[in-house]
Amino acid sequence: MERCTKAVIYKDNLEYNLNQIRKYVKKDVKLCVAVKADGYGHNAVLTAQIAEKVGAEFVAVATVEEGVELREGGIKCGILLLSLCTPEEMAALFEYQITPLVFTEEYIRLIGTAAKQAGAVDFKVHLAVDTGMGRIGCYPEEAGEQAKFIEKCGLKLGGMCTHFAVSDSLAEEHIEFTRGQFDAFKQAVANVKACGIEPGICSCGASAALLNDEDMQFDMVRPGIITYGYYPDEITKEYLKSTGRDFDIKPVLALETKVVAIRHFPAGKSVSYGRTWVAPEDTDIAVLPIGYADGLLRRFSPGLEVTINGKNYPVRGRICMDQCMVEIGKNNPDVKLWDTAVIFGPKESGALNTAEDLAKLGNTISYEVLTALSKRVRREIL
Ligand SMILES: *Cc1c(COP(=O)(O)O)cnc(C)c1O
Repeated sequence: MERCTKAVIYKDNLEYNLNQIRKYVKKDVKLCVAVKADGYGHNAVLTAQIAEKVGAEFVAVATVEEGVELREGGIKCGILLLSLCTPEEMAALFEYQITPLVFTEEYIRLIGTAAKQAGAVDFKVHLAVDTGMGRIGCYPEEAGEQAKFIEKCGLKLGGMCTHFAVSDSLAEEHIEFTRGQFDAFKQAVANVKACGIEPGICSCGASAALLNDEDMQFDMVRPGIITYGYYPDEITKEYLKSTGRDFDIKPVLALETKVVAIRHFPAGKSVSYGRTWVAPEDTDIAVLPIGYADGLLRRFSPGLEVTINGKNYPVRGRICMDQCMVEIGKNNPDVKLWDTAVIFGPKESGALNTAEDLAKLGNTISYEVLTALSKRVRREIL
């Protein structure tokens, strides 16, 4: 017994995208594929398996548990932990060989002590540098001291990284800011070298920067969203083409459900909570068993259209927790009970929408649309 509402993962597209990334990035540059948040909702183990297949040196997670899940799923490549963890989680870093990002003496000391307890020698950590993201990382001018402290605590500096705040924007001031971040990062790397310490694998470019600036590929790139077939904001396929660069990717995930009822609505009858939509004329309404608890955000309606047999139909009224209603028009011969309705997905799924289209509707980004899909939505790997 399986629920009809599901996310279908087009594995070939995932592999296609990762091959495209490998081909696009300079030969000697390493790949660290972001598979955090269960591979942006696409299944982290599957994504990491394909990443390993195309030669990725690392995959990146947000939590220690995500890293453990990958190791238990047989992933052998490096695992980079992009967010901070608490002291209670640190023992697992050594047991499962997860490489943490570090900064601040206190955090480094705690990891150093935990490493000694675990008998881990020369355990590698990557030093995070805050060059303008305002999230985690030391200031560039502190990098040398922090690197020295890492060594003093018996750890080894395996790499350095920073993260850009506006690299997905083409606004002049943003391009300038990103340039400034990159220069600050290079300065931080130089500071570490000046202390006589090898900085290791240096990375700064996520999807946007690695696509838009070859220099920012540095020693390693950290692509996330492009792995799953979506371009980062303004760094679109068309923009890249206009600058003489070719980069083609395909959406990987299709969100599907089925028509579970078709009902005749007389003119004047309202649909759903709040009675925000009233039938202006006699029409038919199809009921779909998908709602905001599945990740179909409430704010997608009005505006959302779903594809049934190659045609789009509008969602009417508010999206409920578990259901929503679609107007298919009176006695529509093209829509039958149990037909598949595709919310978004790649062409192969029959969808006319992508997660990007939904993101625009909901005033958000494809990342949020994809990661909003909840546990209740079964993943089917195709
Ligand atoms: C999520 C994340 C990435 C990947 O970002 P995309 O925009 O999805 O390519 C890279 N680096 C860090 C530190 C991240 O948090």
